[in-house]
Amino acid sequence: MDALEERIMVDGVVVMPNILRVDSFINHQIDVALYEQMAAEIARLYSDVKIDRVATIEAGGIALATFVSQALGRVPVVYAKKDNSAILSDDVYSATVHSFTKGKDYVVKVDRRFINPGENVLIVDDFLANGQAGLGLAGIVEQAGARVGGFAIIIEKSFQPGRSLLESQGYRVESLARISSFEKDQPIFH
Ligand code: 5GP
Repeated sequence: MDALEERIMVDGVVVMPNILRVDSFINHQIDVALYEQMAAEIARLYSDVKIDRVATIEAGGIALATFVSQALGRVPVVYAKKDNSAILSDDVYSATVHSFTKGKDYVVKVDRRFINPGENVLIVDDFLANGQAGLGLAGIVEQAGARVGGFAIIIEKSFQPGRSLLESQGYRVESLARISSFEKDQPIFH
């Protein structure tokens, strides 16, 4: 998506090798107009599939999930929780995920009431790196007897193995910007 690539060039910041900070427009401050455009593009990419629900992991994917739901006609949205929130019931699906940015494992959980058997679920997230977050959430969707309709990602780092991991499991992956490398602290696309 051209508008997104241009914005990444202007406002994205490479912090550590291979980590892009996009907190001024994607995952801290939220550019609502850009999110609307991104959600419309995701709805277009998945216009051949009936999506019953959008799922993500807190917190980075929640804004995207909400906008995508609206673009798909306000289908239900659920986000997996990362910690043992007191308000979370014990009746959950769970998966262990290795965090690429934090370098440690964490458990994600979804209350069993919020994914129904037979649903076709679109998984969305801000970044795709090694694919561990996506794989964990896909496992939860399948534990619930639902199907993964596909993945929709804002920024894919295509030099990392996330896409090939998810595709090797038979999942469809769509992304709005693909960064193939960082050179002199600038992202190179495609
Ligand atoms: P994966 O599980 O695919 O390795 O990593 C996906 C998760 O790690 C995303 O949900 C995102 O929160 C985080 N992440 C991975 N790479 C980056 C990055 O370059 N920048 C930011 N801001 N987050 C990232």
